[in-house]
Amino acid sequence: MSANPVFAGLPTTIFTTMSALANKHQAVNLGQGFPDRDGPESMRAAAAKVLMEGPNQYPPMRGMPQLRQAIAAHALRLHGLTYDAESEVLVTTGATEALTDTLFAFLSPGDEIVLIEPAFDVYRPLALAAGAVVKSLTLSPPHWRLTPEALKAAITPRTRVVLLNNPNNPVGRVFTPEELNDLADAVRASNAVVIADEVYEHLTFDDRKHICFSSLPGMRERTVRIGSAGKIFSLTGWRVGWVMGPKALMDVVTNVHQFVTFATPPAQQLGVAHGLTHEMEFPLRLCRELQDNRDFLAEGLSRLGFDVLPAQGTYFLTAGIGKLGADKDRAFCERMVVEGGVAAIPLSPFFSGGTPDIYVRFAFCKQRAVLEEALARLKAYFNQG
Ligand code: GLN
Repeated sequence: MSANPVFAGLPTTIFTTMSALANKHQAVNLGQGFPDRDGPESMRAAAAKVLMEGPNQYPPMRGMPQLRQAIAAHALRLHGLTYDAESEVLVTTGATEALTDTLFAFLSPGDEIVLIEPAFDVYRPLALAAGAVVKSLTLSPPHWRLTPEALKAAITPRTRVVLLNNPNNPVGRVFTPEELNDLADAVRASNAVVIADEVYEHLTFDDRKHICFSSLPGMRERTVRIGSAGKIFSLTGWRVGWVMGPKALMDVVTNVHQFVTFATPPAQQLGVAHGLTHEMEFPLRLCRELQDNRDFLAEGLSRLGFDVLPAQGTYFLTAGIGKLGADKDRAFCERMVVEGGVAAIPLSPFFSGGTPDIYVRFAFCKQRAVLEEALARLKAYFNQG
């Protein structure tokens, strides 16, 4: 059998692997990042009504007009960004499809793409499948800062695409205005397009403000911005995401979309349109709850000997395991899920090499009782000798 080597050589994702192990061992799953309470009931009711009463046939290829308008209005209200709902907003089947569409739209064989590591696992294989050459800009613990020197070294006139994930999964960095301006300077000096994966835009803590990369001087024309209803409304199974950007770029992204999924189920689209119009208190409340959860989990993990790093946004915190034994991150997580009954995610799969292998990621988008149970299990596990 001959197959595309990029995909033939890939393991199952670390998220699926750890969730399967968690299920098998009835562990508390703080691995894969998904909330354990579904988002607003009014959104689910709105979607259910569409399922029963229609429309249930192919929706417009770019997305239902109501949803595209709601997405454009949300970007204007929240961030002061102006996008034309008709020609500059595209609805996708989850942010993962948005990543596929944008990477395939801008990369040709031999083109260079810069990935900022630690990087979400979707980016690299898709870039490689498009034939691109991947250049890594690797951030260092514990602060994971973007420095002008590293940016200048990675982003050159040969760079075709820069992929920015802000706030960052897995380390929960919310990049500062200075770091983003340095990135914009480097981009300006190159000829690159920026794919801004901003799916955690609502989840920034301690009064940090999310800054959209496209709002920086000169960046709107070269940036496409990816968003996710799953993350805003705790409906990750709905698979509703979007891309917005200048028409010239979006025309190409849309051409990819039409052959990847063509469209996204109409009931979910209209449920999300309802949410963006009527349920925007939800992400505000979620963000406050998550910040409290972060503090609770961080304190509990520190007491157990984890070296907890700052988490400025997202569902995740990362912690050093150096004081807890000799295992490397993956072996540590495998042992902890089997023997300790708690699942986390090792950080090394987010790096392509030269990896720090002493950090693990915990998801705190869970009910308080679940986090309490996880900490109680870990206490019993680490204190037993
Ligand atoms: N975004 C989720 C996480 O980081 C994983 C999604 C997935 O399993 N593909 O945990």
